[in-house]
Amino acid sequence: RHYGDSEKPRCAGCDELIFSNEYTQAEGQNWHLKHFCCFDCDCVLAGETYVMENDKPVCQPCYMKNHAVHCTSCKKPIEPEAQRVSYGEHHWHAEPQCFQCLGCSKCLVGQRFMALQGKLLCSVECKKKVMAS
Ligand SMILES: [Zn+2]
Ligand SMILES: [Zn+2]
Ligand SMILES: [Zn+2]
Ligand SMILES: [Zn+2]
Repeated sequence: RHYGDSEKPRCAGCDELIFSNEYTQAEGQNWHLKHFCCFDCDCVLAGETYVMENDKPVCQPCYMKNHAVHCTSCKKPIEPEAQRVSYGEHHWHAEPQCFQCLGCSKCLVGQRFMALQGKLLCSVECKKKVMAS
């Protein structure tokens, strides 16, 4: 065992010791600045917002482009830090304009709700109304 092994952090990306004073600590490991990069576009993630996707770090733009789940209501990708509601394979922004009853437009955030194939409903009455229309 070399003396250097205990003194210098080891990069989890390339498995070499890091001799630079500047390096990134992320996911409980140390990385050369250049070796903690987006898995999709290779941009350097030091100091940037990133998302762990299947154990691979991706930058925020790539996450939004390639990995984000889409809101069933507005069809837009849901930001990784945004509040969301998930039900089965459906996801919604946890906001009144997206997570609302299809029958009466009542905001369902924090409320009881039913979801029929991604359609949100607050009550049996609204379900009847939506089914009839
Ligand atoms: Zn490295
Ligand atoms: Zn990227
Ligand atoms: Zn939405
Ligand atoms: Zn309703």
